[in-house]
Amino acid sequence: MQAVTHFACGAAIGAALLPPQPSERAPLARIGLAVGLAALGHALLDDLARATYHPPEPHWSDPFWLAFHLLLLPAALVVLWRFRRWWYVLAGSLVPDLDWVAGRALGLWDPGTLHALGRSVPGLAGISAWLRGVLPDLREVPAAALHEALLVGLLLACAFACERSRARVGAPGEDGAAATAEAGIDGAVGPAPR
Ligand SMILES: [Zn+2]
Repeated sequence: MQAVTHFACGAAIGAALLPPQPSERAPLARIGLAVGLAALGHALLDDLARATYHPPEPHWSDPFWLAFHLLLLPAALVVLWRFRRWWYVLAGSLVPDLDWVAGRALGLWDPGTLHALGRSVPGLAGISAWLRGVLPDLREVPAAALHEALLVGLLLACAFACERSRARVGAPGEDGAAATAEAGIDGAVGPAPR
């Protein structure tokens, strides 16, 4: 999948698991869980890429391919900027793609090792194999770019919904009982410094 899709997934995970306010600190274990889930989810998203516009080789002479890829960079930067409070989760969502930089370009390890590691996790291996078995191969079909756009929209909608709901729960005076429960779950770090 494209970086913007991985970032959108990281944003949804960050919004679901971590405090919405930059001044609130999350327990290290929860941060580790969020980063780990983002990294593990990467391989599954890549499996879904089979049903999206994802030509294995660059099509430099194809105007659609060029326009699509020119659009992807600013889109990824916008998502990264909007959810920068969880930058480490968004960074975690791209870690397996070190395979293509450190693995393929620099030769530090076998390319594909990190992706294979994610797919070797019990439970994920079966889902990954199933996805690759049932999804049609649309990687050369330009209209399939819409599938990835819809997926990004869905992930961002989840991120915004989680962010709004957690901000509401944590708001003082709005829902005291829920706010107290939330603080208990998060390790009760106390009020934000002013
Ligand atoms: Zn990848």
